[in-house]
Amino acid sequence: MFKYSKLIILGSGPAGYTAAMYTARANLNPLLITGNNIGGQLVNTISIENWPGEYNISGYDLMNKLFKQIKQYKISIINDSITSTNFNTNPFTLYSNNYIYKCNVIIIATGTYPRRLNLISEKNYENKGISTCALCDGNFYKNKIVAIVGGGNTALEEALYLSNIVKKIYIIHRKNKFSAEPIIIDKIIDLIKNNKIIFYKNSILEEVLGNNYIITNIKIKNILDQSITNINIDGLFLAIGHIANTNIFNNQLLLKDNYICTNINKNYKTSTSIPGIFAAGDIVYGNYRQAIIAAGSGCIAALDVINYLNNC
Ligand code: FAD
Ligand code: NAP
Repeated sequence: MFKYSKLIILGSGPAGYTAAMYTARANLNPLLITGNNIGGQLVNTISIENWPGEYNISGYDLMNKLFKQIKQYKISIINDSITSTNFNTNPFTLYSNNYIYKCNVIIIATGTYPRRLNLISEKNYENKGISTCALCDGNFYKNKIVAIVGGGNTALEEALYLSNIVKKIYIIHRKNKFSAEPIIIDKIIDLIKNNKIIFYKNSILEEVLGNNYIITNIKIKNILDQSITNINIDGLFLAIGHIANTNIFNNQLLLKDNYICTNINKNYKTSTSIPGIFAAGDIVYGNYRQAIIAAGSGCIAALDVINYLNNC
């Protein structure tokens, strides 16, 4: 089946929803394709404290509020996921398993997905005790022992959340200090002092072991002295950063480290290497992966599109 809209927005995270709201308010009647992760990365976050105007709101509630807000406007929202694209000619073509979409302008806001360690043993225990989402899976580990790999905001927030559920947490981090926000690190240090969290610094996960059905323990290697420690765990949480959702644009848009390069046309901050295609949010190359920035750049993309269409 075939669908045409002058403007298509890809993604239903803070960037996509905000871009949809601003372009709809300019009567552009956008079509927003949500992707499989409706509401984006934030929906799996238990508590957001740094969204202006809200304190301690769950990611699900925040994105639901934003969804209700954008429903006030003329936006076609389709729960679908794009599997490939053809940007060689305008109108651009986007393919999914359900439709062929055509459009003249696109705002890409497809965000990121959790990185994996890519150990063979990790693959063997996929869905058998390994998770990338404490909020989704934490409850399976009531009074049990878990390990978390990573030392950024996500790893430490997952540790804080799990600390109210599980008996003990091991944090395994390849550096000797965390890179999360200081306010989060302080809370983790208190839990380390109380022995709720055991911190394995300068350490990497070497192997995941189990009984074929479920993981039972992990091997950790200290990268300074090469010593190996074997610990018993019931669950393993990976929080080692994210990879940009750009595989559907490969060889078409200018990318750096898999993220989309923007500001190519200096008149439009969110312009990509193809005129008429704009990008916003976590998918954009740079170091600013925060919800408020994603929303802000969704707004900039919308303003860029409005100006671009006025100048066409
Ligand atoms: P995302 O939120 O990643 O949304 C991407 C959207 O694109 C999704 O809807 C997805 O379904 C869609 N999509 C992907 N592929 C396709 C496709 N092929 N076709 C169509 N659609 C597609 N930031 C904060 O400011 N405060 C916090 O407290 C905070 N907590 C976080 C906690 C965790 C665990 C994580 C992982 C991140 C957190 N962040 C936080 C960062 C924040 O979530 C991101 O910066 C923000 O969600 C990025 O928004 P986005 O719209 O760019 O992309
Ligand atoms: P991140 O900040 O990139 O941190 C990734 C962590 O994983 C780092 O400790 C990194 O170690 C480690 N790592 C990366 N690859 C690894 C590998 N192959 N093996 C072992 N360890 C590896 O990612 P994130 O924590 O998921 O955060 C993503 C973005 O969302 C960030 O911008 C963050 O600020 C934002 N976020 C914000 C909040 C908040 O505001 N409260 C909460 C969550 C997330 P190195 O340091 O050695 O690279």
